[in-house]
Amino acid sequence: MSKPSRIPLLTPILPDQAHLRPYLEQIDLSKHYSNFGPLVKALERRLEKTFGQHTTIPLHVATVSCATSGLELSLSSLGLNKGSRVLVPALTFVATLTAVIRSGLVPVITDIDPATWLLSPDIAEEALRNSGASAAIVVATFGQPQDTIAWSAFQKKTGVRIIIDAAGAFGSQWVKATDIPVVYSMHATKSLAAGEGGFVVCGNPQVKSLITQLSNFGINLDPEAGLPVGHLSYVGSNAKLSEYHAAVAHASLDSWDEVADLRARIYQRYRHLLNASCGDTISWQAGMTVAAPTTLSIRVGSSRQRDRLEKRCFQQNIDTRRWYQPLLHQHATNIAPLMTMPCPVAESVASDLIGLPFSVFMTEIQIQQVVDTVYQSLEIAATQHQ
Ligand SMILES: *Cc1c(COP(=O)(O)O)cnc(C)c1O
Repeated sequence: MSKPSRIPLLTPILPDQAHLRPYLEQIDLSKHYSNFGPLVKALERRLEKTFGQHTTIPLHVATVSCATSGLELSLSSLGLNKGSRVLVPALTFVATLTAVIRSGLVPVITDIDPATWLLSPDIAEEALRNSGASAAIVVATFGQPQDTIAWSAFQKKTGVRIIIDAAGAFGSQWVKATDIPVVYSMHATKSLAAGEGGFVVCGNPQVKSLITQLSNFGINLDPEAGLPVGHLSYVGSNAKLSEYHAAVAHASLDSWDEVADLRARIYQRYRHLLNASCGDTISWQAGMTVAAPTTLSIRVGSSRQRDRLEKRCFQQNIDTRRWYQPLLHQHATNIAPLMTMPCPVAESVASDLIGLPFSVFMTEIQIQQVVDTVYQSLEIAATQHQ
């Protein structure tokens, strides 16, 4: 039998040239290509409006060139002493960790909640006692939102500064507290895609201005700042979003509702079919239904089951990925000083977690093919009847 055609892990969906054209024409006319041009400014206003629909507090958006830079600049904005400790969850993308290290801070790798797979205030409080951390980057892992109000209360109670890494969570993670910067990515694979790009949402206009200034090398552009315009007032970076990336982001927002709806429908259908075949043999991240899923991960019960599934998928030309593995403390033992709290839950989740193919381009037949492959590999055929 010939190998079945490949089912890719992930296929991004971005606006095509017809939908980009009106924005590119605006760039031709404005001749403004970067440095806070009209499309970037309009994008920030547009996102402020979107986020404003979910809260009564005034919110401010600072665009950046990617979420990784957004995290680094948000950390800079806190003004922590060099070597300060920052909690990060063990199960996240490596950028959460590298942002801390590149900022001259020491990551403290922390366990996650067994149901939501998130770092929670309770876990953070425990980790705090043993690490003396002065900040935390908490992650909206796999798009599952963090509770900004609970984290704001945690910040007030403990004095520990909180940043939320919501890189992949646009559409599910809203901002309801004024004192926590929340960082989003617009990488091609994320729910709001611009190719590359990101933004920080926060309730404090001074924090927004500071992040904007840090994204432009740290140069002061405010005539009221008590410092000459054009003088350097911080050590920043170049993390500006270009007008071209803003153009793509605008076009992505134009089709957001439609694409999010498609993502949600395909995800629900897929999840229903997996549950119908595999029942309790598989398990899912607990929490809300994510608005616009970009990946699909399940736990399959044991590392042995996962090995079998991976092998079978490989034979069937179905791509899989162990998302966010190895865990941060398994990645990084030699790259920089770091602290690791006991992470039994993260290690257990990581032992049988697997990402299956997911995109808006998947057909019903492809979904069924993946579901059948999962079912056949998991040794449930013998014990369970439809
Ligand atoms: C994608 C991702 C990032 C990095 O975002 P970029 O915009 O590519 O820099 C950071 N953290 C998490 C959790 C992510 O999923």
